[in-house]
Amino acid sequence: MIHDIATHLSTLTAVQNVVVQGTKVVVTVNIDDNLYTLEVNLGGRFPSSLPKIYLVRAADYGLLPHVCWEGEVCYNDGEGVCIDITQQKEIAEHALTKAIDVLSKQGDEDFYDEFEGYWNKQDTIQPVYSLIEPGDKVRELRAAVNNKNKALIAFLPGEEDTLPNNEYAFLHKCTSRRTEMRAFYLPLESCIQPPLPGQPIEIDILENIVDLLSDCNRARWDDILKHNNIPKPALYLLLSQPRPGGGRSLFGITVPFANSWLKNSAGEKYKHTVTPLSINHHTPEFLIQRSGGYQDIAGIKIAIIGAGSVGGRIAEFMAMCGIRDLTLIDGDIYSIDNLYRHVLDSRHVETNKAKALASQLRSHFPYISITTKPEFINDPTSCFDNYDVIIDVTGDPTFSRRLNTKHREIQRTSKPLLLTVWLEALGLGGHVVLSDGLTEGCLHCLYHENGKEGLWNQYAFIESGQSVTRNLTGCGGAFTPYSAMDAAKTAEMAARMLINRLRNLTTKDHYCFWRGDDALAKSERMSTSDWYKKLGKAKTDAIDLHKGCSLCRQTA
Ligand SMILES: [Zn+2]
Repeated sequence: MIHDIATHLSTLTAVQNVVVQGTKVVVTVNIDDNLYTLEVNLGGRFPSSLPKIYLVRAADYGLLPHVCWEGEVCYNDGEGVCIDITQQKEIAEHALTKAIDVLSKQGDEDFYDEFEGYWNKQDTIQPVYSLIEPGDKVRELRAAVNNKNKALIAFLPGEEDTLPNNEYAFLHKCTSRRTEMRAFYLPLESCIQPPLPGQPIEIDILENIVDLLSDCNRARWDDILKHNNIPKPALYLLLSQPRPGGGRSLFGITVPFANSWLKNSAGEKYKHTVTPLSINHHTPEFLIQRSGGYQDIAGIKIAIIGAGSVGGRIAEFMAMCGIRDLTLIDGDIYSIDNLYRHVLDSRHVETNKAKALASQLRSHFPYISITTKPEFINDPTSCFDNYDVIIDVTGDPTFSRRLNTKHREIQRTSKPLLLTVWLEALGLGGHVVLSDGLTEGCLHCLYHENGKEGLWNQYAFIESGQSVTRNLTGCGGAFTPYSAMDAAKTAEMAARMLINRLRNLTTKDHYCFWRGDDALAKSERMSTSDWYKKLGKAKTDAIDLHKGCSLCRQTA
């Protein structure tokens, strides 16, 4: 087979020569009149994964973007690859073509964009966290150091950085039973090269680093050195340099303690080993972007009324999307009864739900700020101050209708968005109404019957007049039967609708729903509404709400 593959590869335009060596096919390729020798490695996991391709004598070529020091050509990041293992020739051809493509698009800029990748390949590299926002000024930092071996754990944020909230668990992990040491941040004006493979970093790197500081920063650094001895037991340096593609590459070094900077009193250079540090970025921008959140909505202020099974998940989605200012309102106490459908874990049982949820979210998300109101709201008027969005997940239609009416009545040209979210029992579905309080479409629209205001929600999935609550222990223990999946699905739909609106991806949707199966309802002998049955035939989830709503469509 390998000879078949070699013959196949020899037909590619750029390929000049092909030799089989064991499990490797060694090809000579001509790229822009430069000859490169590439080894296509068909051993290992090939064909279940793409073959590794190495550039022979890579170091001879100097800086090559996307080529590791040991010569591996990084032509694919492994994401989204699905391989048909019966087509080995085609797989090898695809890989070689991609590798040739990488080598033909060369420029120093790409290389420095990839700097962290090269730096982090060093044998003695130590991973550390950085909670520092890489600015353009030399400054002193704090570092958390392991008590026993003095290894650096993290560069800690100072006053100039966005601070994680006090309950953020990972920061406690970084700092508990650790010693805090002085450290320094040095932003370079231009780029240094990473050391060659197997070559340790020499103490000289310190001179190079200082040379690459701006005049201003060099003066700051000299000042620091003049007034402070280099701290024991080591000099911890967080470094950054510009990325041509934007932002800054972060890297670092640790140098053991020395009384003076580079030379001893006899003027001889110290022979210290320098330990290179790879940096795990930990800033709001990086973490939110890296996890698929949205920087553009970070400043939005959201109040959530109701921290139950649906509200809890919506709050979690909002935090995960990158919302950093939440107010949670609920007077209810978290009970063991809700354990199997609530996001809260059992540590929070017998705690106020809003406070418990806030605590859990603060522990998870470093840069979130949460206000709690552990109370039930009687007067909906008070809800509209200071927020961009109010999410009503009380599941209490009487309260929701009052809130909706008050929202309409506010005399302002700019109002918070009001999102009303509720689910149906027995897995029948969930609903979301999104109203801006100004244009047509509101919760009230759902309560019109033949043009008149009615008592029942005309868009409910369960036929009105039936009791859906159950109890396992007697009257006082009544509850509405729905599952964690029903809650999660409804919350996800509400969160998506809101985020799309906030990001201006949709402007006019004001109602959406999901419609579940009625098997459970049938087994419980519950009747579904005509609306539910009618929707079974509808293909769309975009419903234009009832015309003639007395609140929002008076002019229609
Ligand atoms: Zn309306």
